[in-house]
Amino acid sequence: METANEKSASLSFLSSYPTCWSTNQSTGPEICSDPGEPWLDAEIVVEGKSVVVNRSILSERSQFFHRLFNLRNDGSVSEGKPKYLLTDLVPHGKVGFEAFNDILLYLYTGMTKESPPEVSACVDDACVHVSCPPTINYAVELIYACAAFQITELVSYFQCLLLILAENAPVEDVIPILVAALHCQLNRLHSCCIQRIARSNLDNVCLEKELPDEVSSEIKSLRVKSNQESEANIKEVDPMHEKRVRRIHKALDSDDFELLNLLLNEYEVTLDDAFALHYAAAYCNPKVFKEVLNMGLADLNLKDARGRTVLHVAARRKEPAVLETLLSKGACASETTSDGRTAVAICRRMTRRKDYIEASKQGQETNKDWLCIAFLEREIRRNSMSGNLAMSADVMGDAFQMKLDYLEKKGDIYFLVLVHCLLIVFA
Ligand SMILES: [Zn+2]
Repeated sequence: METANEKSASLSFLSSYPTCWSTNQSTGPEICSDPGEPWLDAEIVVEGKSVVVNRSILSERSQFFHRLFNLRNDGSVSEGKPKYLLTDLVPHGKVGFEAFNDILLYLYTGMTKESPPEVSACVDDACVHVSCPPTINYAVELIYACAAFQITELVSYFQCLLLILAENAPVEDVIPILVAALHCQLNRLHSCCIQRIARSNLDNVCLEKELPDEVSSEIKSLRVKSNQESEANIKEVDPMHEKRVRRIHKALDSDDFELLNLLLNEYEVTLDDAFALHYAAAYCNPKVFKEVLNMGLADLNLKDARGRTVLHVAARRKEPAVLETLLSKGACASETTSDGRTAVAICRRMTRRKDYIEASKQGQETNKDWLCIAFLEREIRRNSMSGNLAMSADVMGDAFQMKLDYLEKKGDIYFLVLVHCLLIVFA
């Protein structure tokens, strides 16, 4: 369920673009090139798909494209159709086909349509898609494109949207916003994300693994300063313990199990003390995760300081091999986080509709998004069926026992054997 804050952040952001072009450019990105002026075309390849764009219009409305297409002073262009990869034009962040077309539509018309739900909404039926990861990631894609193409009014617009999301989304989903703010040099957004994360219980390991060193250091400094100012009696972390935990994590990073065993023997720190399974589920190769799990020294259903089991962490990562290993070893799929989310709910909320639907249509069982949800749903169904079977067995067991008493009196030995067999089957 969404919180009230999340609902307040609801914005149909693409439909509310300003209309800024004075001329009525009805041409959309799909029909952008004028057949009469083929020399104005350029080709931009996005996610393997070719998009033909009109150099003249884009140059007129974006300084970036003006420089890219190198228009002559008289407005003419060199002959031939140049070809570009979008990943070269927007090097710091991923921009998908749909986001690129939304930005093109804005450049051509000054307007746009609703954001496509297949790439900006998740597959969780309980979600209203205002601050789930696909919604955030789509807004992040758009701001990467706007910043690279120097469309200042849209950068301002999406910065405002992301400021709202950064304050209201689950804190782990603020990280891609912060990374985008860094790359796009959006100081206000950067500051907001830093403050939000500093106030949260996101652990240092996560900060160090997912953010640049200078940013994680800035957040840690803010936390120290905040603790000093509030004079809060916050439990100090034992630096020696933290050092040992880090060494255990490094041994996992380097797949060095000999070192790991040495550390465990030398230090008075267990795999559970180091939340080693959580760490491996989030950051290590699935093979390493399986190996540490097979050591049999860690609690499979242990919860970390944020109330997450290893399965919750693996569901967020969406790595099928890790999830399958965990479920095969008996991880509890119905366990919830401190805010009431199961692993499958986490996984559904992380998954875009496009990825899930495409995989379902084509039966591509190699699609990681689809596979992860399928594994978790199968486990829930299996548990549900075994629960029902156990219930049925109890009911049938009572009925058979009554029949057994009756038959014993009748002395029907052959039927008794059959009934005993059935009782064994349903036991
Ligand atoms: Zn959603």
